[in-house]
Amino acid sequence: TTDAVWLAPGEPQEIQSDLVTRFQQEYGRAASGTWFAPGRANLNGEHIDFHAGRCLPLALAHGTYVAAAPRTDGQLRLRTLDPSLDDGVTMVAPDAIGPGAAVEATGHWSQYVSGVLWALRELGDSQPEFQVDPDFGADLLVLSTLPIGGGLSSSAALECASMLAFLALGTPFGQENPLQNLNAALTKQHRKDLAAACVRAEVEVVGAGTGGLDQSAALRARPGKVLSLDCRDFSVTPLDIGCILRGYRLIAVDTGEAHRLADGQFGQRRADAEAATALLGLDRLRDALPERPRKADVTHVLEEFDRLSEQLETLEGRSIAACRRRLRHALTEMVRSEKLHHLLSGDSYGVRHIASTIGDILTAGHMSMRDDAEVSFDVADMVVETALAQGAEGARLIGGGFGGSVLVLISPAAIPKLTAALERISRSIRLLDVAPSAAAHAL
Ligand code: ADP
Ligand code: MG
Repeated sequence: TTDAVWLAPGEPQEIQSDLVTRFQQEYGRAASGTWFAPGRANLNGEHIDFHAGRCLPLALAHGTYVAAAPRTDGQLRLRTLDPSLDDGVTMVAPDAIGPGAAVEATGHWSQYVSGVLWALRELGDSQPEFQVDPDFGADLLVLSTLPIGGGLSSSAALECASMLAFLALGTPFGQENPLQNLNAALTKQHRKDLAAACVRAEVEVVGAGTGGLDQSAALRARPGKVLSLDCRDFSVTPLDIGCILRGYRLIAVDTGEAHRLADGQFGQRRADAEAATALLGLDRLRDALPERPRKADVTHVLEEFDRLSEQLETLEGRSIAACRRRLRHALTEMVRSEKLHHLLSGDSYGVRHIASTIGDILTAGHMSMRDDAEVSFDVADMVVETALAQGAEGARLIGGGFGGSVLVLISPAAIPKLTAALERISRSIRLLDVAPSAAAHAL
């Protein structure tokens, strides 16, 4: 074929039965169950969850499967079947589980999993139903249908699937609600608390600068909906996007450029924006804008920033011009999110109109990621340009940037030409159909 290649989410039952077979081969014992958490796309709201902004994620059908069985010696025995990360079995001793107790010097993937067990133990301290037995440990085998480091949140999918496995196997809640009963027993509040615990794992154990968007998407998304997530209090409003998906499709274009070496740069971008927030005298940048912000409100905040920074040469040792660009990205991104939230909350628009309006918001988001957040890269810019040239309603980089995926809103008729054009940009490009799917669950 001359077209870019589609990455299918696979058939969950087949994947599960394959994983369970491999679990038996690997560990010489049966898995007690399999848990799944989805990756995510995001209509808008990149680099603003940690500013208490609004994000509009939706869960993919692609995600991460974890087969597991409990142990009684407090150890974790882990293996991933991802070809690029598989380094055989890793053992994590009980005293190596938690912040500052890294399994290896830096960044081994097992920290995402051990961090989650630590975070669940912490949660269990205040919620008895989630209390993990001190001797609890587990064998886990991991398989993902997501690109890793592709901006579709494979990290949160791994955390959230592991979280459900530990919850099911190591807590009174899991004992009272065995196997698939877990799904019905998990309330919205439970899911919110578990997402917050997964954030703690990624921030406090892995040391990544996640703000909570990804974990909320993985644990709290709804099939057929976009989750409107207000990061001030992490409240969610599921919004119907039938108005977009009737007549159009959302596609995630994985550029094949993984961003896993770029954690430092992400942290720098965040620090720039936080320096600007501090100069404005705010704890959370969202508070710089009114409840229903408009463009003029952004201008107003930028003017205030200019006034406050006028006499300064740097801002906490950072370039003032760069901090201002990060600020402008965050502010305009927040305005775009609020606009989308209100657009999708009402149904006063025709299908055609709403698709082109949403497309324009997507594309504006990309320009902001490129020029203000400065987290885009050549292939992503080319994918966006190509998509627009092939008649897409809009396209934007999603995820933290410095690699990752582009979300495209396009009519089905234009897809064949798009895939052929994308193939000419790079042979590493993969396409994922974005069908708003269910949140993390037991299989
Ligand atoms: P993204 O979340 O956008 O995919 P991240 O850099 O946040 O990218 O997370 C990628 C990291 O998460 C990987 O480098 C690895 O440490 C871990 N990870 C994700 N999925 C898996 C998996 N299936 N097996 C092992 N580790 C994984
Ligand atoms: Mg991630």
